[in-house]
Amino acid sequence: QQKYAHQETFLQAVQEMYLSLEPLFNHPDEVLRDKYIKAFQMLTEPERTISFRVPWEDDNGVLHINRGYRVEFSSALGPYKGGLRFHPSVDEGILKFLGFEQIFKNALLQKSGLQLGGGKGGSDFDPKNKSDAEVKRFCQSFMTELHRHISPNIDVPAGDINVGGREIGYLFGQYKRLTNMHGDFGVLTGKSLTIGGSHIRKEATGYGLVYIAKLAIEDKLKQRDAFKGKRCAVSGSGNVSQYACEKLLDFGAKVVSVSDSNGVLHFENGMSKDDWEVIVKAKQRDRLRLSEIEGLVSGKYIAGKSPWSCEQMTNYDFAFPCATQNEIDEESIQKMIGSGLRGVFEGANLPTTEKAQEILRRHTNIIYIPGKAANAGGVGCSGLEMSQNSQKLGWNPNVVDEKLKDLMAEIYQQLIDTAGPDGSLEVGANQAGFLKVVDAMDELGWL
Ligand code: NDP
Repeated sequence: QQKYAHQETFLQAVQEMYLSLEPLFNHPDEVLRDKYIKAFQMLTEPERTISFRVPWEDDNGVLHINRGYRVEFSSALGPYKGGLRFHPSVDEGILKFLGFEQIFKNALLQKSGLQLGGGKGGSDFDPKNKSDAEVKRFCQSFMTELHRHISPNIDVPAGDINVGGREIGYLFGQYKRLTNMHGDFGVLTGKSLTIGGSHIRKEATGYGLVYIAKLAIEDKLKQRDAFKGKRCAVSGSGNVSQYACEKLLDFGAKVVSVSDSNGVLHFENGMSKDDWEVIVKAKQRDRLRLSEIEGLVSGKYIAGKSPWSCEQMTNYDFAFPCATQNEIDEESIQKMIGSGLRGVFEGANLPTTEKAQEILRRHTNIIYIPGKAANAGGVGCSGLEMSQNSQKLGWNPNVVDEKLKDLMAEIYQQLIDTAGPDGSLEVGANQAGFLKVVDAMDELGWL
């Protein structure tokens, strides 16, 4: 704790895991107890952290120096796998929190045949207000160092905040130039179809989130047509949010919000498919802020608020936080519960603060699926992209979408099997992931 006191979000992630695993650390069988404790101690320290300089020139020829990282956290189940985040808030602690989460998330995919270790990387580079040429130069410089550390069998990065198809393309382009390994398609996932990507990868985190939420609502609330007419609040307006919204609309939900770091677009009567198309075009093609599209959609823009803190938004059934860590705090969750909330499904990683989680845990009538399970569809589909890349072929979109549904169903089943039918899905997710990694470490002779 003291050693990493400056890495607050990492400690928060470890503490969240610890609370779920406490029963294992007090297991009556001494041998098992010791094994679990030893494994947890090992898993809170990354196997390796690479940190490097990323110099790049802006359009005026001015030199900038950023810090790049790759945290290779655990290889027990397979090659390190996890996204790259470009954001000014990125430091070693943020990437350790994300990498730690990733180990157990990826372990939930093992039952479906995907063998993936956990890692995460990125940089404190801020792509906002940068030209396309500047982003390209930054990506090329970043990969000039990173390429020594990755390969389809060692470490396979993907996207995360501010790293989408464009950035993955530039990174892969530089990897190819430096290594001459043009068949190494599986070294990065989240590629576009033209350069070796998989159908449905860009949609997978958002779609997977809605698929698992649907299963949980139908199971726990005994409802058919989980989303028909239900009011769903979504935060963020990036990759995860966009495709969560699309799938919610497909399932007949009323999507009442999206947001960015400056404010929220509130759709009192639900977003239409036309609204959704405007948002996607504005974000993916034109790189606009939500404040710039207010007049083009039926929603009302409220500056300085998130869907969770916004006073005008008091009435929704389900919450889908899809922006960033710690976006739902104690005050917000009280407000959300007071207005009839029935489920929280985390598209983002650790979007709920420790205090807000404590409150959620006391409300056992609210379905709560943590990010580790709820947003695993993205990395699951990345695993499918790696499989296609190694076979040097591509599956059609329906095949991948069906596989994604199966992955999410398999994850949901593991949560239920581990926690019991009335148990906490959070505990189920954390224990199921942890136990898979422990078994692997044990068989490898690492404990
Ligand atoms: P994007 O960069 O595509 O979108 C991020 C969205 O969140 C943007 O709307 C952004 O607004 C908003 N946001 C970012 N930081 C903040 C902040 N500090 N406060 C408020 N809003 C913020 O990222 P993704 O959609 O890929 O990722 C979103 C979340 O989902 C992250 O937690 C990520 O780790 C997680 N995730 C992503 C996966 C993927 O496949 N992409 C897989 C699994 C999890 P703005 O433009 O103003 O910054």
